Amino acid sequence: MPIAPGHERPAPRPRRSRPETPPDDPDLAARALEIHRRLCPVYGCPIPYFHSLDPLSELVSSLLSHRTRNADSGRAFKALRARYPDWAQVLDAEPAAIEETIAGVTWPELKAPRIQAVLRAVAERHGALSLDFLREMEVDAARTWLEAIPGIGPKTSAAVLAFSVLRMPALPVDSHHHRVAQRLGLVGARVDVGPAHPVLRAQLPADWSAQDLYDNHEILMLHGQQVCHHRNPACGRCVLLDLCPTGQARRGAV
Ligand code: SF4
Repeated sequence: MPIAPGHERPAPRPRRSRPETPPDDPDLAARALEIHRRLCPVYGCPIPYFHSLDPLSELVSSLLSHRTRNADSGRAFKALRARYPDWAQVLDAEPAAIEETIAGVTWPELKAPRIQAVLRAVAERHGALSLDFLREMEVDAARTWLEAIPGIGPKTSAAVLAFSVLRMPALPVDSHHHRVAQRLGLVGARVDVGPAHPVLRAQLPADWSAQDLYDNHEILMLHGQQVCHHRNPACGRCVLLDLCPTGQARRGAV
């Protein structure tokens, strides 16, 4: 696969976390901190990282995982790696062969060409098939670089920075995290997952470490999976009940 000539590597800059929007409601920031303080002992912070992938591999893994169970996307990722040990081989492959390899995920016919297009964009914009250079950038700049590629949104850019070996302080928001945050009143009912990213990040301290933000994402996601279920939240055994407008309303309705 021909790779475009090299671009300038960005100058090393200190890495730090900076919220995309200022925390304009101190009450919400205080509530977000109290939620974190209560959920951490329930789910065991600091939570071990579940991946140690390089950032480009994490990007492919994240693209595979959209609307797909973790077990299925994990199997598809392993199958892709086994068939194409080098990501450059994925670029040269027939889309139908990739689609066949990742058949266990949802929409493999869309994800196969999207993965190729994203890999091609990385190679063309950076001059190499690697995202290791992101470690030299600030979080916001790295996210902006990633999100300039069609098919990469806030959740994927945050996942690449936070879950890969880069271990950068970014806050991903998945559907469980988003649902729990809405029920707790941290984001409005009409705020979609993408726009919720800067809102929720801005409620947390600007100097939080990568592990702190990872923990925050994980505990809200786990709470959504184990207690604050999509259909029937178990408010009666929720440690956040007194903080939660949705839980209070449900209790009042009983
Ligand atoms: S009180 Fe109910 S709705 Fe609120 S976070 Fe807990 S389980 Fe979810």
